Amino acid sequence: KLTSREFHPENTIVDVAGVKIGDGSMTMMAGPCSIESLDQIRECARIAKAGGATVLRGGAFKPRTSPYAFQGLEEEGLKYIRQAADEFDMKVITEVMDEGHIDMIAEYSDILQIGARNMQNFKLLQAVGKTGKPIGLKRGISGTIDEWLNAAEYIAAQGNFNVVFIERGIRTYETATRNTLDLSAVPLIKKLSHFPIIVDPSHGVGIWDLVPPMARAGVASGADGLIVEIHPDPVNAWSDGPQSLNEKTYMRMMEEVHIIEKAM
Ligand code: PEP
Ligand code: MN
Repeated sequence: KLTSREFHPENTIVDVAGVKIGDGSMTMMAGPCSIESLDQIRECARIAKAGGATVLRGGAFKPRTSPYAFQGLEEEGLKYIRQAADEFDMKVITEVMDEGHIDMIAEYSDILQIGARNMQNFKLLQAVGKTGKPIGLKRGISGTIDEWLNAAEYIAAQGNFNVVFIERGIRTYETATRNTLDLSAVPLIKKLSHFPIIVDPSHGVGIWDLVPPMARAGVASGADGLIVEIHPDPVNAWSDGPQSLNEKTYMRMMEEVHIIEKAM
């Protein structure tokens, strides 16, 4: 398999317009769950950058459980996140939910994110694979390691070797946390595949004060980076406020994370 360590013994470094993921340093990605306005994403970019993030996250097309919940600003949001990222010299990662939106989103975003709910949307995987762009591939809500590796294979089979795995927790019998963050996936994916893997502790736990300890653990587990949700005013966030870090908590977490990174 193209995704396997056997096929490609060396680590693959994914080059995101100059930001290298998997080169031995940590790549930090931060931003809101949803892009809400130009002001909001600019403020998120300022905070994200101050803590050391080089990639700005933010959803413009949101996979919401309820069809009545905020679905995202769509192309208007993409314009805002691109503008904010450029202002703070950052790269962009945003989710693609629909094959028909790929070309449009690829104009604004440096990384195309495949959400957990689409990990086995095989036509979407093939279509993003064809773009050749860096792909952030979230682990499915109930995705096994083998299914996740096969999802990456769908992308690689299109000739796209720019895959970044994102561990974001899986559904287990435990309901006290939003998901169960499976940090054993980090060393396991590194053993089985040459593609980098980053950790999303925000969706992994769903509770903001549990995010910093799991981010620290993610770095210690050998991840190539982190992706975390931040918001200038988490209580009033349009989505995922309960798991979003405010500026102060994010900055403190990043200090701790940098200490662990240096010690590794
Ligand atoms: C997100 O990143 O906001 C998101 C919806 O994540 P996931 O697909 O992991 O649930
Ligand atoms: Mn979210």
